[in-house]
Amino acid sequence: MKLLENYIIEKGNVLPGNVLKVDSFLNHQIDPALMKEIGLAFSHYFQDLGVTKIVTIESSGIAPAVFAGLEMNVPVVFARKKKSITLQENLYTTSVYSYTKKEANDISISKNFLSADDTVLIIDDFLANGQAVLGLLEITEWAGAKVAGIGIVIEKSFQQGRTLLEKTGIPIYSLARISSFENEQIKFLEEA
Ligand code: 5GP
Repeated sequence: MKLLENYIIEKGNVLPGNVLKVDSFLNHQIDPALMKEIGLAFSHYFQDLGVTKIVTIESSGIAPAVFAGLEMNVPVVFARKKKSITLQENLYTTSVYSYTKKEANDISISKNFLSADDTVLIIDDFLANGQAVLGLLEITEWAGAKVAGIGIVIEKSFQQGRTLLEKTGIPIYSLARISSFENEQIKFLEEA
C-alpha cells in the first residue's frame, strides 16, 4: 500500500533492535485518514470469506481492526493484556512473548465473544516473529472458530513471523512489507 509506505518513510524511525517507531500515526497518535484506507484495503482483500468477527490485540491493533470492522460490518474483539475486575473468569488465556517489551504477557479473550460459529479475521499492527498472531490463533482454535485470514499493517519480512505463519496455510495479507533496515534505510519488498 503506497500511502502507508510513504507514511513509514516520512514519519517512521528505525530504533536499535530492528524496531520501527511509528508513534505519530499508528502506535500512539493515530491518523484516522490513514486508518480509513487501511480498513478499506483489508476489507477488499478479505471480502467474500464469510468473516463474522475481527480479532486483534490491545492496544495498537485496535485502530486498524476497528476501521476494517466498520467496512466489513462485523464486530471487533481485542485480546486484553491485563485482567480486570470485569474480566476475570470465562476466559481463553495464553502467554505471548512480546518482541518490543522482551517479556511474556498473558492475553485473554472472553468466551462470550468467540465461539465455534465464528469465522475470524486476525489483524495486528506489526508482524515480527509471529508470537502475537500465534497466540491469537491458539485462542481461536480453543474457541473452535475458523480463521479466514491474517491482516498485518506492517510486516518485517526479514524476521521469521511470515515463514512461521505460512505453515498454517491461512492467507496472510500485509499492507507494507519491509525487507531491510540497513543503515537505517527502510526498504520494501515489491508489491505483489
Ligand atoms: P511478533 O509477535 O510478531 O514478534 O511481534 C508483533 C508485536 O510486537 C506487535 O503486536 C507489535 O506490538 C510489536 N512489534 C514488533 N515489532 C515491532 C516494531 O518494529 N515496531 C513496533 N512499534 N512494534 C513492534
